[in-house]
Amino acid sequence: MSRDQRTNDNLALATAQKYALDNELPLAVIFVMHQTLTKRSFEQYEFMLQGLSEVADTLESKNISFISMHGKPLEKLSLAFTHFKPSVIFFDMSPFKSARRLKEQLSEKWPVSVVDTHNIVPVWEASSKQEYGARTIRPKIHRVLDEFDVDGYEIQSHPHEWPSKAVVPFAKVKNDFLNQISQIRKNNCSYTFLSGEANASKALQSFLDNRLKGYSENRNNPVINGLSNLSPYFHYGQLSTLTVYKAALKRLLDDSSLQKDFDALVEEMVVRKELSDNFCYYNDNYDSLQGAPAWALASLSKHANDERQYVYSKEQFENAQTHDQAWNAAQIQLRKQGKIHGYMRMYWAKKVLEWSTSADEAFKTLVYLNDFYSLDGGDPNGYVGILWSVAGLHDRPWGERSVYGTIRCMVYDGLRRKFPIEEYIRQQGTL
Ligand SMILES: Cc1cc2nc3c(=O)[nH]c(=O)nc-3n(C[C@H](O)[C@H](O)[C@H](O)COP(=O)(O)OP(=O)(O)OC[C@H]3O[C@@H](n4cnc5c(N)ncnc54)[C@H](O)[C@@H]3O)c2cc1C
Repeated sequence: MSRDQRTNDNLALATAQKYALDNELPLAVIFVMHQTLTKRSFEQYEFMLQGLSEVADTLESKNISFISMHGKPLEKLSLAFTHFKPSVIFFDMSPFKSARRLKEQLSEKWPVSVVDTHNIVPVWEASSKQEYGARTIRPKIHRVLDEFDVDGYEIQSHPHEWPSKAVVPFAKVKNDFLNQISQIRKNNCSYTFLSGEANASKALQSFLDNRLKGYSENRNNPVINGLSNLSPYFHYGQLSTLTVYKAALKRLLDDSSLQKDFDALVEEMVVRKELSDNFCYYNDNYDSLQGAPAWALASLSKHANDERQYVYSKEQFENAQTHDQAWNAAQIQLRKQGKIHGYMRMYWAKKVLEWSTSADEAFKTLVYLNDFYSLDGGDPNGYVGILWSVAGLHDRPWGERSVYGTIRCMVYDGLRRKFPIEEYIRQQGTL
């Protein structure tokens, strides 16, 4: 278990259990904790560990062993596999290079299978190549979506006992890990999101009861709470998009006036989200500006020496110290709530391009801020959202202007025309 940290609707776990039941074998879930010192805040690890505690408890109640370790994944998993000699190993799917390399290396010695339980349509089923944009992946996903709209996956109590009694309790591994990472920088803000599958389920319920109706309109207005607010749960895999899809579909079947809202949700949570995985899966440059399309790179390069009206350092951005109160408010929202409203997130990123010395520096600043402060950061959606904003990924050329070249730009007056931006600024307060 790595990217999909849950026991409900987890196809990788369900596939492993089915194999174990068919072959009368015991079953264990292995999780390796590995910290990357500067990328994530201390609070992000706490969020993850809290969710994993719930996973550990549920698995224990189902007689499935939860083996957690910290260290380098290749080293730790090789040790575990040498010791336990598993008949088969099922991994969940991540499109990131490090995760794919790890599975390739392990598969040289052990029987490894990968199950995509992060997407409703598995990334390799949706498309066999990098897609140009939502326009090209959308019909491919819709064509097969029904096939993957299954009843969901429940784990049952496992009848075969895990032989090793020496499994270290998760609480101990968790405390050791927290001690080990105590030097990691804190954000020192308490996020509004509560971790774990039970809280994810409550968040889903609240969305369905209070915000699904009107979602197609309200999600673009940052001054009202109109979004699903589920991305942190998707990022840590505490909630499955299949669970959400099925629950929203049920509401639609009871109330056909929800059609527009349901369609908007599918567009974001299935089409756009799966497009991000498609990009990272098929383009190894997802984590640099080089992942951008050629027309955008050429245009940015042509405008590389354009004079910038304002230039800010990483620290000034981080501390919300720009001349633009709307931008500062988005950065404050990021630090205080652990997530920027989706509409403001585009403005936030585009202005960093406008006020940085180069597009490359803007990309790096944005990845740093997004991954460190945003609870849903470190995600394919993050790389894609940033490349879309600063380098035209999955977009088309727009009218040429200074610094942006032909990358689509956003302006303060555009925000004002769409919603009461002053109200948004007021809502965020100060750092
Ligand atoms: C600069 C920038 C950075 C971003 N970084 C991240 C990130 O690190 N992690 C992240 O999950 N999303 C990221 N996004 C995409 C999007 O902003 C968030 O998914 C969304 O705001 C999350 O809030 P929500 O769950 O309330 O979204 P809702 O609008 O309610 O959407 C529901 C779900 O659909 C998916 N979704 C929505 N918008 C997009 C999108 N544009 N692209 C792909 N999937 C989408 C997400 O899984 C989301 O949880 C980024 C976008 C931009 C412009």
